[in-house]
Amino acid sequence: MPDDKKVIVALDMMDPVVARDMAKRLSGEVFAFKVGWPLILGSNADIVVDLSRYSKVICDLKLADIPDTNSWVTQKMRENGAWGIIAHAFVGGDSLEAVVKAAGNVKTIAVVAMSHPGSSLFINKKAKELVRVAAGAGAYGIIAPGNDIKMLKKVKKIAVGLKILSPGIGTQGGSASDAIASGADYVIVGRSVCNADDPKNEVKRINAAINTVLAQRNGPAT
Ligand code: C5P
Repeated sequence: MPDDKKVIVALDMMDPVVARDMAKRLSGEVFAFKVGWPLILGSNADIVVDLSRYSKVICDLKLADIPDTNSWVTQKMRENGAWGIIAHAFVGGDSLEAVVKAAGNVKTIAVVAMSHPGSSLFINKKAKELVRVAAGAGAYGIIAPGNDIKMLKKVKKIAVGLKILSPGIGTQGGSASDAIASGADYVIVGRSVCNADDPKNEVKRINAAINTVLAQRNGPAT
């Protein structure tokens, strides 16, 4: 049965207890959870082990170091049961390859463009080259902004064989349906889910909107 959940919820809180509670509530409705530095530091990385009980866990460390250091951090996340790890592509193919190698079955997801205003200064100018770095290193996927449809479409054209995960949805102005229609495979949503009155309902609403786009694209089931 195809996985019809396309929403990755970013648990951008400091408190592991609050994160665990949210994961419990949303379990079954999401493709994965994304955790970043605040939670990982606040839990000595044990949060990755904990949350893996509820769904796949993507560690958003945006690794950007020399190959050996990237490799050690990746190994630690792998030991803790991460499903995916996010690393920067701008540091070059050798550093990203070190992540892919240390990750083994864990998916390496490379940042090729970002969703905040400052990203237009440097990183987004090099998005196409960064997609090539990601593909060359053997990454599973890339991060490309869901609130910059022009950029998303540009990246999609050359991201052959790479999954696209798109943040920037909701609070940062992007729409999940537009992002999926423009080439994203998954959307990453943080504040607009976690701060909603009913987070579970909000995820269901986003999944339904995405499934409408996918049904239109794929046509009626035979
Ligand atoms: O709350 P919001 O939905 O804006 O959260 C977006 C999440 O995606 C945050 O965890 C942020 O760090 C992450 N992210 C992003 N843009 C990128 C890569 C990751 O917004 N290019």
